[in-house]
Amino acid sequence: MVIAGVGLIGGSLGLVARRRGLVGEVVGFGRGEENLKVALERGAVDRYSLDPAKAAENADLVMLAVPVGAMRDVAKAMLAHAARDAIVIDAGSVKQAVIATVEPLVTPPRAFVGCHPIAGTEHSGAAHAFPELFEGHRCILTPTERTDPDAMARVRRLWEGVGMTVDVLTPDLHDRLLALVSHLPHVVAWALIGAIEREKVEGRDPLSYSGGGLRDTTRIASSDPRMWRDVFLANQPELVRCLDAFEAALRRLRELIERGDGDGIEAELSRLRAVRTRLAAP
Ligand code: NAP
Repeated sequence: MVIAGVGLIGGSLGLVARRRGLVGEVVGFGRGEENLKVALERGAVDRYSLDPAKAAENADLVMLAVPVGAMRDVAKAMLAHAARDAIVIDAGSVKQAVIATVEPLVTPPRAFVGCHPIAGTEHSGAAHAFPELFEGHRCILTPTERTDPDAMARVRRLWEGVGMTVDVLTPDLHDRLLALVSHLPHVVAWALIGAIEREKVEGRDPLSYSGGGLRDTTRIASSDPRMWRDVFLANQPELVRCLDAFEAALRRLRELIERGDGDGIEAELSRLRAVRTRLAAP
C-alpha cells in the first residue's frame, strides 16, 4: 500500500495496517521529509519517498490521504507507476468532488473506491497518528455505477480490518449528511472564535477568561485550515444551505432572548437538549 499524505488519517492507517499485517509493505509519500521521517520512526510506513512515481511503483493499493483539493494531482502523479490492477481509495471528507476528479483517472483493470472514515481529531500530521483511531467508528463507502464489486469487497475488508463498521451511501447523500454534521460545525466553531476575538472588554482579552464551555464548543477550530478550506470549497452549495439552516436556528433563539421570553427559551432549549441525546455514540 502506498499512502499519499502520511498525516493523521494516512499515518493512523499505516500504523494499524502494519501492526495487524493487513498489507505487505507500506510506502509513504508526501511533500515534506520532516513528517515522513516521523512516520517512519513511529512505524506508520516501512519506507518513504518524496517522489510520487517511486513511492507508487508497483503498489497494489493507493491510498489518497491528502487534502481533497490535492487529490487529483497526487493521483495523476502516482497512477502510471502503480500495479496495472491497483485499487485506489481515498479518505476525503467530501465525496462528489473527489469522485468527479479522481475516478476518471482510474481505468480498468484498476478500480477506484471512494471512502470516508468518520474518525479524526483536530490534530494533523504523522506525529498525531495512532493505530486505534478507526476502532469502533463508521467508514462510509460511496460506490458509483463504475465501481468494481470485487474491489469494493476488498476495500470493505480493509476498513473492517482496522475496526470500522462499513456503511454504503451515494456520494450525494454522503455530502448532504456530512455537510450538516461535520462541515457546518467546523464553520460555526471558527465563526464563534471570530466573534469573540473581535470584542475587547475594557481592554481585556475575553478569551483568557473562558472556561470549559468555550474550549469544548470550539475544539475543532484547532483543525488544519488547508484541509478545511478544501472541504468547504468542495462541498460549497450544500454547506451554504446548511449555513442558512444555522442562521435560522440562531435567529429563533435570538428572537426569544430579545423578547425576554423565558418560557419560550426554556422550551426551545429543552427540545434541543432532547434532540442532542440522539448524537451518535463515539
Ligand atoms: P493531515 O494530518 O494534514 O495529513 C495530510 C498529509 O498530506 C500531510 O502529512 C501532508 O504532508 C500531505 N500533503 C498535503 N498536501 C499534499 C500534496 N499536495 N501532495 C502530497 N502530500 C500532501 O490531514 P488528515 O487529517 O490526515 O486528512 C487527510 C485527508 O483525510 C483529507 O482529505 C481529509 O479531508 C480526510 N479526513 C480527515 C479527517 C480528520 O478529522 N482530520 C477525518 C476523515 C477524513 P506534507 O505537508 O509533508 O506534504
